[in-house]
Amino acid sequence: MLLFGTCFVDFMEGKKGIVGKIANERVEILFSMAEKCITTEPELSASYVNILEHIVKHYHLRLNKNLKGRICKKCHVVLVPGFNCTVRIRSSSKLVAYTCSKCKSDMRILYI
Ligand SMILES: [Zn+2]
Repeated sequence: MLLFGTCFVDFMEGKKGIVGKIANERVEILFSMAEKCITTEPELSASYVNILEHIVKHYHLRLNKNLKGRICKKCHVVLVPGFNCTVRIRSSSKLVAYTCSKCKSDMRILYI
């Protein structure tokens, strides 16, 4: 540990260090790839989401707000409004509700 100095410590910092930044970057790339091919190749898209979730779990990352409501928590599919999910705004409770058309699960996110 002492041989490597501070570079090694910075590298191994986890979600705030270099490894975390690279992992976050890969999560975003995998999500965009999964989103692109969901209409043409759903199995390939599901495998991208599977890899994405493994990276998030392994590095203890948090999905940002843009990605959080876009993946179904039950069937692990990228949700594309108009294709495989419906989006409703509940103004009384200030929520956006994403309903998956495959498993009918409901996700609610605050839009304040
Ligand atoms: Zn679902």
